[in-house]
Amino acid sequence: MIVEFLGTAGGVPSLFDSVSQHKDAPIRTGPGLFIHDLKLLIDSSEDIFYQLRQAKIADIKYGIYSHWHPDHTMGLRIWETLNFDFVNTIPQSKVTTIYLTSQEVEDFKTYFGHWNHLLYLQQIGVVELKIVSNNAKITIKDTTIEWIQLSEKIAFGFYITTPTKRLLIIPDEIKGFQPINKVKDVDVAILPFGSNEVNPVTKERIHEEGMLSTLGEATFEECVEIAKNINAKHTYFTHIEATESLTQLQAKALERQLSEAGISSTIAYDSLKIKV
Ligand SMILES: [Zn+2]
Repeated sequence: MIVEFLGTAGGVPSLFDSVSQHKDAPIRTGPGLFIHDLKLLIDSSEDIFYQLRQAKIADIKYGIYSHWHPDHTMGLRIWETLNFDFVNTIPQSKVTTIYLTSQEVEDFKTYFGHWNHLLYLQQIGVVELKIVSNNAKITIKDTTIEWIQLSEKIAFGFYITTPTKRLLIIPDEIKGFQPINKVKDVDVAILPFGSNEVNPVTKERIHEEGMLSTLGEATFEECVEIAKNINAKHTYFTHIEATESLTQLQAKALERQLSEAGISSTIAYDSLKIKV
């Protein structure tokens, strides 16, 4: 299975000279993952248009969402841009099947008009909406995708199994997650990086002291603890805010630190393609 990290930022993608981004680090765009074998997209940030062009992805059969937060959903219009046939009088548009859990439907109805937007996209024939339960399991070809509702009930992870491999993807909102046995010892885990108040390599202060706990944000240390508990053969960390300002060298240093702590890991970057 080929998984591509379309974007590896979270709510703070890289901008030019933003007030909260002050160091030279690789550009990170909004969160998004694509499973090539299934033509399945996980989340559509506002950067999805650029990301699909960059990755040369023209055909998406399935879309799923981790949760309603704007950094994961503000590129919803991609379904129209990608699929709508603006050539023929009677459009012969492509159709992407979008799965949403009942929790997500409630949230999409509450926030930003997402649900109405999706209904419009369905009406113009570019998506087909399928509502599934909060612990749904679907099978595409020989791959099973199971939704795992997180401790932060608005959000979901995905437990993906093929005849030979097991993969756990948690795009965000991992705070308080207690891994169930089923998702332990997977071949690959893709987990959020969390945030640091000080750079974990240089120890330079990033945020005002106490800010992350005030905001209830998951810290990098918490994410590492959860990764240890999941005990994947290899863990990829993503959802890395541009405020972290991690240079490539620092990311490598961090991977070495994690390796010494018993976690085989990669700090993901935009356009990283992995084979599971
Ligand atoms: Zn996020």
